[in-house]
Amino acid sequence: MNNAPNHDPTSVKLVLSAPLSGLLVPIERVPDPVFAQKMVGDGISIDPLDQCLRAPCDGDIAQLHPAGHAVTLTTPQGIEILMHIGLDTVGLKGAGFAPRVKLGDRVRTGDTLIEFDADFIATRAKSLLTQIVITNSDRVAAFTMHSGVVTTVRDVIMELTLAGGAQAAEASVEAAKTVISEAILIPNPTGLHARPAAVLANIAKKFKADIRLRKDDRQVNAKSVVAIMGLEIGFGDKVVLAARGDDAEAAIATLTPLLWEGLGDEGYAPAPAPASFAVSVKAAPAPRPRSDDPSLLIGAAASPGLAVGEVFQVRHAEILVTETAEGDPQQERDRLDEAVNQSRVQLEALQARLHGQSAADKAAIFAAHQELLDDPDLLDIAHSALAKGKSAAFAWQRAFTTHAERLASLRNELLAARANDLRDVGRRVLTLLTGAEPERMEPPVNSILVAEELTPSDTASLDRNRVRGFCTTLGGATSHVAILARSLDIPAVAGIEPRALDLPNGTPVILDGGKGTLRLNPTPEEVARIRRTQERQADRRTVELAAAHQPAITLDGHRVEVVGNIGGLADAEQVSALGGEGVGLLRSEFLFMERATAPNEDEQFEAYKAIAEALGPDRPLIIRTLDVGGDKPLSYLPIPKEDNPFLGERGLRVGLDRPEILRTQLRAILRAAAFGKVLIMFPMVGLLSELRDAKAILEEERQQLGVGPIPTGIMVEIPAAAVMAAQFAREADFFSIGTNDLTQYTLAMDRGHPKLAPKVDGLNPSVLRLIAWTVQAAHAEGKWVGVCGGIASDPQAVPLLIGMGVDELSASLPTIPSIKAQIRSLRLSECRQQAQTALTLETAADARALCPDPFTEAV
Ligand code: PEP
Ligand code: MG
Repeated sequence: MNNAPNHDPTSVKLVLSAPLSGLLVPIERVPDPVFAQKMVGDGISIDPLDQCLRAPCDGDIAQLHPAGHAVTLTTPQGIEILMHIGLDTVGLKGAGFAPRVKLGDRVRTGDTLIEFDADFIATRAKSLLTQIVITNSDRVAAFTMHSGVVTTVRDVIMELTLAGGAQAAEASVEAAKTVISEAILIPNPTGLHARPAAVLANIAKKFKADIRLRKDDRQVNAKSVVAIMGLEIGFGDKVVLAARGDDAEAAIATLTPLLWEGLGDEGYAPAPAPASFAVSVKAAPAPRPRSDDPSLLIGAAASPGLAVGEVFQVRHAEILVTETAEGDPQQERDRLDEAVNQSRVQLEALQARLHGQSAADKAAIFAAHQELLDDPDLLDIAHSALAKGKSAAFAWQRAFTTHAERLASLRNELLAARANDLRDVGRRVLTLLTGAEPERMEPPVNSILVAEELTPSDTASLDRNRVRGFCTTLGGATSHVAILARSLDIPAVAGIEPRALDLPNGTPVILDGGKGTLRLNPTPEEVARIRRTQERQADRRTVELAAAHQPAITLDGHRVEVVGNIGGLADAEQVSALGGEGVGLLRSEFLFMERATAPNEDEQFEAYKAIAEALGPDRPLIIRTLDVGGDKPLSYLPIPKEDNPFLGERGLRVGLDRPEILRTQLRAILRAAAFGKVLIMFPMVGLLSELRDAKAILEEERQQLGVGPIPTGIMVEIPAAAVMAAQFAREADFFSIGTNDLTQYTLAMDRGHPKLAPKVDGLNPSVLRLIAWTVQAAHAEGKWVGVCGGIASDPQAVPLLIGMGVDELSASLPTIPSIKAQIRSLRLSECRQQAQTALTLETAADARALCPDPFTEAV
């Protein structure tokens, strides 16, 4: 039949002999989309007739799944061959499989790899079909698949022509061994969705090494966003990184901690959600409800706010492409490269045009689009179509639609929603390639857009003077469009009932982005009432902004300082325009994340100095020392794995354990103090000895620098610090209560936990009592107290905090004008009474009922 396997390592051909006897089955026919759609790579399947998996060629065992059902062999040319016995066999947890090799073993063609009990497996698993897949298929220029019945070792199952130029690289890759990371548990509540996947791919691309991300028995190219998303990695999933090549060690050392810390995913350590909206974002997708009322359509709340207007249906025109290339493959490839480059420039320009509070969020979405343009898997599909004489437009369209369909079919709604991003960026390139007229949406004034799907690009270019809101039948609250809508402050509903698409243009509607509804044909009275409410809200914001520079003094003459929480220079530059009276919390972590080494003293000094100067000489700047560790490690600060990272080495504990890091930061802060009104704050202080040790280090550094002392306070965010506030108040110059952590530790509920987070409410009377106790103890020692946790921005908490005697509120920047306005409408005497009552209540809901949100107007 198929004889004479070739095992020459210098050959451009690699011939694989049958690892099993049986019938060869094309991989596309395997009843598992992961294999059939070649998400793991290209290959072939065998319906086995024997029970012993053998090496199809010479190589090293690069991976052996603990369940014994899958093994990966790396050939001398660096080709990785995954052999996966059966479908859904991981669930057998090793029963029926007897591996005969171990990780790192060198094997020859025909050596036994795994023996298995075919009868046992066949009666318990979905199928015995055994997949032989090349996981780095990008290294293969052409596959020749054989067919028919094969006999183990004697016959050939596939022949690979290795990609040109790959060999030299392979030789050096081969010389190096595979470096494998420890097992990493994914901390991101919503798994590795597009943004963290893009961060990972982006950083992985900085290394020359071939880097793979493995989950269970599947592994993908860690430089491909799409491939990473295809792994459907969820919260708590265990993954491993494997790298081969010159800088493999460095790659693993850099990427491992980043994965542990959530890859900068904002969903990982969210501030508590005072608004119900933030909770709904994190909630698991519920089955989509349908309304019985013909004039009410229901969807998911995607961006809060009310909009009144008329329906405007948005449809994307299909872009027609010619299949066959006009030029030769190289010319078509040049055209594709040019269009991809131009798209990159367009996306850069889009990001540069973004302003305002959420510019960073929005920019991150378009940065993720740029990342997709570099995706090796995507380009791989396009290039192989080009090689077959297809036009650049056709090749590109096929590449992005194939990937988008793959994503859309994933079970994870969050990942499926990323298909829209891929189509968006895909259309951008396609428009350039075909010279199609870029689509311009020209809705009339007061439009409520209705679409199956809007792309992030559509949303970013919306004319706010015409569009009042939008709803889409696809997507959910976690889609990028929803994130953009929130940052643009446009009410939006996602996943609305499909009958919305049949509404004629011009139908009068009310869109409620907070409730997730679209009401048809409202009465003129209803419309008028909503318009009045909206006008009042808009007027209120204008008035608040105009008065933002006035101090926040209650009606009975009590002044509360309102400052902001910031994460870097860009935020600092907005503080004064919003009426912020300083910075109550600079999270200095921003300087330390996503880099391979700690910033040196001069770098830190320059950064703190720039922020101090942006605030000017009169606005205080409280710099919190590095608050990382345990749950958010840095690669250059390795911390042994901990069972309970939130209770492990975090915050100041890390600084005291690695004093060189703390000393460098303190010196930089002491030097920057000459350029503003700088204060120092230590995070996560639980013991008096910790404060004393940190202060001693600060004093040593201060004396060495020969500068004056600066006020030094602590975050009160561990219940022990609140309970011992009287003792701490003698030794700290001020307190700032970190209610995010204080609530998490008081209630023993992880603040980022997808199910528990909604209950982690800082208005729980247990937390309020700790706050009241802390304030009392501080004031008795003549020290002031701020609150920098999320409840400082929560209008329902503000009267209670003021009533308990809190002197300073450090709020999120956009809320500063309204918090100041609210304070001006309050009376200290009434706040005190409310606070006294709140301390006697039983639940957070009771406390919230005591202080209804003054800005929520009944409509
Ligand atoms: C807090 O814990 O309330 C706080 C402000 O600190 P962070 O959110 O940075 O942990
Ligand atoms: Mg904290």
